[in-house]
Amino acid sequence: MIDIEQVSKWYGAFQVLTDCTTTVRKGEVVVVCGPSGSGKSTLIKCVNALEPFQKGRIRVDGMTVGDAKVNMNRLRSRVGMVFQHFELFPHLSIEQNLSIAQCKVLGRSPAEAREKSLALLARVGLSAHSHKYPIQLSGGQQQRVAIARALAMDPIAMLFDEPTSALDPEMVNEVLDVMVELAREGMTMMCVTHEMGFARKVADRVIFMDRGQIVEDCAKEEFFGKPDQRSDRAQQFLSKIL
Ligand code: ADP
Ligand code: MG
Repeated sequence: MIDIEQVSKWYGAFQVLTDCTTTVRKGEVVVVCGPSGSGKSTLIKCVNALEPFQKGRIRVDGMTVGDAKVNMNRLRSRVGMVFQHFELFPHLSIEQNLSIAQCKVLGRSPAEAREKSLALLARVGLSAHSHKYPIQLSGGQQQRVAIARALAMDPIAMLFDEPTSALDPEMVNEVLDVMVELAREGMTMMCVTHEMGFARKVADRVIFMDRGQIVEDCAKEEFFGKPDQRSDRAQQFLSKIL
């Protein structure tokens, strides 16, 4: 579903990604972890064409990212993205937050979009809040709205960038629960997160990045199971967060 081949990226003279290669198959859940500044956000932004890259190739469901023949807005609409800071539209109600892109990008009628939005809000446990505005909700609720908003576009894959790291601790689980459910339903997911409990529960693979490189890319069992076979850098990192 997501095929990343030898991707390198520079910000000016600074090389932020070096020869990153990995594949996320349909239905697979891949957790990306690594120290701050290692390029995790940049890598997933490249997948969604939110950041250009200078070398290599990324294909999403067969569409090549950056190809002049591929409609980038269409590609972006098919890959859901959830950020650390929710990024909801503050001036729109929760229901409108979910409906607007369905109408503008997918051409759904307002009634059709609204129906889909309300169904998704029910699914993330927020039916009672559809008429409210983002500022009236807690961080955990806002993040669940952001996930529902991404799902409203019927994405073929979902990208998460530290979705729980801006939340108060007591709100982390309500967001992780939604992500676990999504994973169990078979959604293809690439999740930047340091929630290793989540990784243990639903990840198929764990990628460890350091200084712009994919240092480890292995099955979850291997990543957590055999500390002696881990790279020193991954070992060091895990000892700090576990
Ligand atoms: P992570 O998500 O792993 O913390 P990022 O992908 O955000 O890492 O950043 C990787 C590196 O690229 C960091 O050193 C960061 O300072 C740098 N960087 C990120 N965005 C930009 C930018 N727009 N311009 C220049 N440097 C950037
Ligand atoms: Mg980041």
